[in-house]
Amino acid sequence: MKYRCKICNYIYDEEKEGKKFSELSHFTCPMCFVDKVMFERMDDDIPYPESKKIFKNAVVFSDENKGVEKDDSKCIDCGLCKETCNRVTGLDFGMRVEECLACGQCIITCPTFSLMPKKDKSKVLKALEEGKKLICYTSPAIRVSIGEAFGYEPGTFLKEKLVGVLRKLGFTYVLDTTFGADLTIMEESAELKHRLENQGVLPMITSCCPAWVKYAEMKYPEILDHLSTCKSPIGMQGAMVKSYYLEKMGLKEDEVFTVAITPCTAKKFELARVEIEGTDAVITIRELIDWIKEEQIDFDQIEGSNFDDLLGEGSGGGTLFGSTGGVMESALRNLYHMYTNESLEKANIDLSDIRSYDNVKEATVTINNKDVRVAVIHKLSAAKPILEEIKAGTSPYHFIEIMNCEGGCVGGGGQPVHQAEEETEVKEKRRKGLYHRDKEVTAKAPYENPEIQKIYQEFLITPNSEIAHKYLHTSYTNRRDA
Ligand code: SF4
Ligand code: SF4
Ligand code: SF4
Repeated sequence: MKYRCKICNYIYDEEKEGKKFSELSHFTCPMCFVDKVMFERMDDDIPYPESKKIFKNAVVFSDENKGVEKDDSKCIDCGLCKETCNRVTGLDFGMRVEECLACGQCIITCPTFSLMPKKDKSKVLKALEEGKKLICYTSPAIRVSIGEAFGYEPGTFLKEKLVGVLRKLGFTYVLDTTFGADLTIMEESAELKHRLENQGVLPMITSCCPAWVKYAEMKYPEILDHLSTCKSPIGMQGAMVKSYYLEKMGLKEDEVFTVAITPCTAKKFELARVEIEGTDAVITIRELIDWIKEEQIDFDQIEGSNFDDLLGEGSGGGTLFGSTGGVMESALRNLYHMYTNESLEKANIDLSDIRSYDNVKEATVTINNKDVRVAVIHKLSAAKPILEEIKAGTSPYHFIEIMNCEGGCVGGGGQPVHQAEEETEVKEKRRKGLYHRDKEVTAKAPYENPEIQKIYQEFLITPNSEIAHKYLHTSYTNRRDA
């Protein structure tokens, strides 16, 4: 019997090796160093496939990777992807390919476009051909980046044009994942309050970044009970669309196709989690930009439009989800109000520390004479000391925000790419665009969003209710040995 490496086509021939493949407790491909699990049994009738070119410096990808695809013909084996992966995620080269977080940070630095976000537009077009109504929802961080492909400065806030172009492409209902972000905070701040008051597991850690969640499941399964049980904003938005929204609109599930438009390649991987239902496809902002160009739509001439009602309005805090520190600030706005019935903004509490670009930031906020200690981390590789502290039971924090990508979702692997030396400046401009928008809106915190108030009155009853748990919360799996 022979076994083929699915990555490089290396053949393990039991007859030549003198040992059955199934009897090998550990085996690493001698060509591309992937684990035994990447081998498949070969049918005797099929001729040997040709060995693929082996890249010594490039990160190894499986065709089954949900977020990233690689065109080997363009790869120059420069090693930048490997260096980026190590720098951002802290994962080692030679990692088991199934450990890839699908975060797409390596895409941003690949100089030859050998690495690209995986494409899913064909699924959307197929649904359209089948006569389904398309429902989409857009992440906060893409309204400050879409213009970059059409001559606008990074950070230019183009919400209306984004909605307008989506309608032109055939989406019947255009909703806003910022609403899902507000819902996340309603549930997450209530969960934190409950943990604080009932000697629950602390620090609580955010769970809205799927790359971080997968990393925690693989590398720190012993601290999974520290993760908030809240689904991500897209997880919540999808669940509400397929339940509350369809009922309100008189639509049936088989009549619609739901699409999340994101800056994030890891969201494609998140869709594969059995716990997260509701979204049928994820397309990145890069894929959307290509689609607009293929249709030869003049973006400048697009007439602006607004999101549809019900799940189409977000607060300033929800908008900040696109930036490192934004989830934390939004949660603190809600938590402060829950304890004091007053707004955090009026209390004039300085949160400039958690708004900075430092990879690890911390702050203490006094609420009703109790100090709440928080930390914010962007770039997973920077999280290790804090995660080790939690594992040892010595963490001083009550609440921690962790995002995989540099800058948060403004730096997601599905965002438009720029020259390497411009990337940090571009992310900062996108962040400024989001903070500027926060200043303009009336509803600063999720609890002030009228659509959030309405959905709790009509459907969810109260944060952390039984029905809220059914639709909006999730669980985690130890994947250390998976
Ligand atoms: S960064 Fe791109 S070109 Fe360089 S090794 Fe990686 S995949 Fe190949
Ligand atoms: S997608 Fe993320 S985890 Fe996977 S190789 Fe690229 S940088 Fe590393
Ligand atoms: S930080 Fe944002 S864009 Fe990056 S992997 Fe996490 S959720 Fe996706």
